[in-house]
Amino acid sequence: MNADTAMVPTADSAPQLGVARLFAAGPEARHRDHLAAYGPLPDPGNASAFLSALEASGLTGRGGAGFSSWRKFAAVEQARRTRRYTPRAGGPVLVANGAEGEPLSFKDATLLHSSPHLVIDGLLAAARVLGASKMVIYTAAANLEPVAAALAERPQARDIEPVASPEAFISGQASAVVNFLETGRALPTDPAGRLAARGFKGRPTLIHNAETWAHIALIARYGGSWFRRLGTPGDPGTRLLSITGDVPAELVLEVPGGALLEGVLASAGVRPDAVCAVLVGGYHGRWVRPAGTVLDVAGGAAASSVRPGAGVVHVMGHGRCGLAETARIVGYLAGQSARQCGPCLFGLPALAEVMLRLAAGRGGPELVREVNRLSALVAGRGACHHPDGTVQLIHSALETFADDVPWHLAGQCQASGGAL
Ligand code: SF4
Repeated sequence: MNADTAMVPTADSAPQLGVARLFAAGPEARHRDHLAAYGPLPDPGNASAFLSALEASGLTGRGGAGFSSWRKFAAVEQARRTRRYTPRAGGPVLVANGAEGEPLSFKDATLLHSSPHLVIDGLLAAARVLGASKMVIYTAAANLEPVAAALAERPQARDIEPVASPEAFISGQASAVVNFLETGRALPTDPAGRLAARGFKGRPTLIHNAETWAHIALIARYGGSWFRRLGTPGDPGTRLLSITGDVPAELVLEVPGGALLEGVLASAGVRPDAVCAVLVGGYHGRWVRPAGTVLDVAGGAAASSVRPGAGVVHVMGHGRCGLAETARIVGYLAGQSARQCGPCLFGLPALAEVMLRLAAGRGGPELVREVNRLSALVAGRGACHHPDGTVQLIHSALETFADDVPWHLAGQCQASGGAL
């Protein structure tokens, strides 16, 4: 018996983890702080019990797409059980994805600096259940030091390898992660759905966002019902948000699922009357007005809800132009194409050019028609979500800043107050 399995924490023995579930061990927690806050990692039991707890929790991925975590786990477990791969190649592979190519996100970096042991626990628990022998923590080079220090405190984590991710927007896309681990090139290959059965070197591969693994560590300790004590039935548990933009100080907040955006902004010290619009979910997210908006993983189920995506909340104050800001972001995204798919390689720069002209007031109503035409040409035509995410951002801008469009077409910007 070792320190990781000495006692069995349960929901009843769980410390009073309020909204700060993931940071309960304090900043830059050592293993002893981690054990003091959460107790040891219990024996996770068999795959069926582990899967039931995950399913009961309703946990969804915290990296962007919001997939059901238990379904991903179940797909890998089924591939392992039915041996729909070459067992000689090795058992399942687990990856904690903390790449955060999204420029507005730093929640996974914060988590890996403050609570690396939760991420490690999530991997270790799943590895015992799935018989995985290869585990990777994939994150920016700047986060490797705390990860390596935490791993050095855990002899039983010696099979976890820290790997530096390239600094590119799509480096965290699931198939790009596997491609990078295999070939050193972080380029998406095909939709992530097949990785569970045939991922890294043909082995079943389970990739979760780093934060998702941390939640799995807590569910392994306290159970699925405990996880649901915060959040809503449709969006249980908590999630981390990176709050940036026109805010008193950029910070990471942990909030319950289904949180009101206005409440989140108030917690970040932002005055409601100072906010023009908020970009939620990141560069592949949506612009919204905060009044009455709920952050909910089922975004769209209610007219006022928006998916938190990668957990980004970027505040734009009054006096800034949403169309100009969107044009800047689309220009960045066009430059982040992995240059593998024609519609993405040629379509995104064309979209960026039209958005730039719209932001600068260089053209007439044909610009909006051109945005719609180009959007239809690129959406759904890439090997990854990059074109679709970019189109989603543009359309949300045209919707949220609809009142600004005629002004721009007339050579004026009412948001920044002057001629273009
Ligand atoms: S859609 Fe774009 S980013 Fe995605 S794989 Fe194709 S070229 Fe690369």
